[in-house]
Amino acid sequence: MTPGREDVIIIGAGPAGIAAGIQLKRSGLNPVLIERDRPGGLLWNAHRVENYPGFPGAVAGPDLIRLFRKQLAGAGLTITSADVRQVSRSRNGFRVDGGGEVMEARAVIVASGTVPRQLPPARLGGCDLSIAFYEPRDIPSGKRNRIAIIGGGDAAFDYALGLAGDGCTVDIFFHSSRPRALGLLVQRARDTTNIRIHPRTSVVPLSNRDGKLVMETETGNRHQADVLLIAIGRDSNMEFLDGDLREEIRRAGPEGVPGLILAGDVRRGHRRQVAIAVGDGVAAAMRIASAGTERQSEAHTTKSTKDTKNA
Ligand SMILES: Cc1cc2nc3c(=O)[nH]c(=O)nc-3n(C[C@H](O)[C@H](O)[C@H](O)COP(=O)(O)OP(=O)(O)OC[C@H]3O[C@@H](n4cnc5c(N)ncnc54)[C@H](O)[C@@H]3O)c2cc1C
Repeated sequence: MTPGREDVIIIGAGPAGIAAGIQLKRSGLNPVLIERDRPGGLLWNAHRVENYPGFPGAVAGPDLIRLFRKQLAGAGLTITSADVRQVSRSRNGFRVDGGGEVMEARAVIVASGTVPRQLPPARLGGCDLSIAFYEPRDIPSGKRNRIAIIGGGDAAFDYALGLAGDGCTVDIFFHSSRPRALGLLVQRARDTTNIRIHPRTSVVPLSNRDGKLVMETETGNRHQADVLLIAIGRDSNMEFLDGDLREEIRRAGPEGVPGLILAGDVRRGHRRQVAIAVGDGVAAAMRIASAGTERQSEAHTTKSTKDTKNA
């Protein structure tokens, strides 16, 4: 990350950040798009996206990312690799600390998505963190025979379908009597022979000796797995915004702080979808571009008024 003063900084190159970047380029602005991991965000985990218009036969998340990135490159925008640690106010806008290198910008689009909700340590029973994963891609290849998923929402079922398609045997455990996931995902999981669904079941890991994880349910039944995949919800990822900014957002809303806009999953509670994230990104970019145009025309009017007075 090169220190300097920018018009707009976008934090996060998932669908929201990429869409914002493309739109800003169309408006003649040259944003800096910062990503700490591989561009594409959560879409890497989506094994089959069926609700993004333009793909009547559905599209795999990674394939959609490749298209997004191609379009971004076509718009002439490159991605800056950095992990944003802090965003705070500066005299003329915002100060963005990307892990040592600091940049300033008049406007910031926060498109940093969500972070997985962690399993309380007590629920890991007699095991350590090495048995628990939050994203399928992090599970080592030697530990993919049998996977226990904790969670009953869309992500849990989508993960199960993806892993089962790769040949894993999957058990899904959740507290409630009915899963919270879309009926269509649940039905597909029911129709998949290597997925077993365990409603009203809470499992506690007992041991992970000899590379096998043994878990016990409240009723004393035992299950084995290689690892746990935890999908118990996600929270907005904005810890890097300084306390004052977070407080301002809390009071004024995700668009209420002039010059700083939240876009995509970071601003949403439950409605987290690619099409919404993309729409948010485009809307954020348009707001910032029109604010810039208004400023330019105000400056022009002031200059013309002065010129007239001096004539
Ligand atoms: C299993 C699964 C299946 C899904 N299936 C579907 C589906 O079928 N249809 C659908 O519409 N949606 C689906 N989704 C949801 C969809 O993936 C998200 O809604 C979408 O990716 C949100 O985009 P985003 O840009 O807001 O956030 P994200 O995709 O989370 O991207 C945020 C980006 O910001 C980066 N970032 C975060 N913090 C920093 C920082 N401090 N510095 C720099 N970079 C940072 C992250 O690394 C990430 O790349 C699915 C999600 C999951 C998990």
